[in-house]
Amino acid sequence: MKTILITGGAGFIGSNFVPYFLDKYQEYNIINLDLLTYAGNLENLKECETNPRYNFIKGNICNRELVEFIFKKYDVMGVVHFAAESHVDNSIVNPEGFIQTNIYGTYVLIDVAYKYWMEEPFVAKTDYESCRFHHISTDEVYGTLSEDPNELFVEKTPYAPNSPYSASKASSDMIVRAYVKTFGLNCVITNCSNNYGPKQHDEKLVPTIIRNALEENSIPIYGDGKNIRDWLYVLDHCKGIDLVYHNGKKGETYNIGGRNERDNNYIAKKICELLDVKKPRKDGKCYSELIKYINDRPGHDRRYAIDATKIEKMLRWKAEEDFESGIKKTIEWYLARYEAH
Ligand code: NAD
Repeated sequence: MKTILITGGAGFIGSNFVPYFLDKYQEYNIINLDLLTYAGNLENLKECETNPRYNFIKGNICNRELVEFIFKKYDVMGVVHFAAESHVDNSIVNPEGFIQTNIYGTYVLIDVAYKYWMEEPFVAKTDYESCRFHHISTDEVYGTLSEDPNELFVEKTPYAPNSPYSASKASSDMIVRAYVKTFGLNCVITNCSNNYGPKQHDEKLVPTIIRNALEENSIPIYGDGKNIRDWLYVLDHCKGIDLVYHNGKKGETYNIGGRNERDNNYIAKKICELLDVKKPRKDGKCYSELIKYINDRPGHDRRYAIDATKIEKMLRWKAEEDFESGIKKTIEWYLARYEAH
């Protein structure tokens, strides 16, 4: 039995990853360290609560004493690091928490891992040779793309973050890189595109559209709605993380994206169209009539799109869902959740 530390497991992607990982691998114990900020929700992990191989600890990744205690007490042999402040809008209003958690928190975790697993630079302690630190990052570190469909983010695209959020994630990626180059720590980084799916916090685009539509409120869309993202169903992301964690090459970065570029207008209209069928409005009108354009986000990146060739070729990963199939599952999940509450 090996113990793996998952940080931020009560957030959107973490709470999809933890049950997937527990179910797939019987030989791992999981410790989920999460501060339960507004973004963390233990309701999303109800299915794991009684699993004897799952342990939850409420705490801050910036708390070095706590992180050291967890490594020693549970003999942590691997880390999958999700914990972060993750909402771009919040980073514009209040960047401080992003700098603390995303940069300093990543430093604390990786430095504790290095000291717990290694004797000195490039020399692992006996029995700790295969310990791995997997840092979860974002395609937003690469900045924005033009609308030329041939232009895609590859692993070698220079970093050019534009928001305090993406700048803090870019910084954390650089810290991880430094621990590989200077200390020989066994790390991998994945930079992923926009995720959607069950358990996402209400503040993000897809749940905002679904919730406002069902409540018959206006559906807010930034600017002209033509910002393009490369949408990935969350479970496809979890499967990519699993592959990179187990088979990725030490010190390498892998981009994960679904080859599903859609603009916000399409996303909103598609969700409205599906809701028109699943849950028609009482007055017979279309949900899309509720769409309302609001002032654009400052510094709003125009287009993100990932070239996932590396993970597809080297690790045989491929997104199983396209946006049209994934969004149906997502809507089903939110309808069931809203009906239960
Ligand atoms: P989220 O905001 O839903 O969850 C973050 C979790 O981290 C929450 O449970 C929160 O309580 C916890 N947390 C925050 N600060 C903490 C701290 N100081 N100590 C311990 N726990 C803390 O985020 P998410 O959407 O699940 O994203 C997870 C990771 O994936 C992040 O690193 C994010 O940058 C990255 N990512 C997200 C997306 C996306 O589309 N959501 C895309 C690419 C990369």
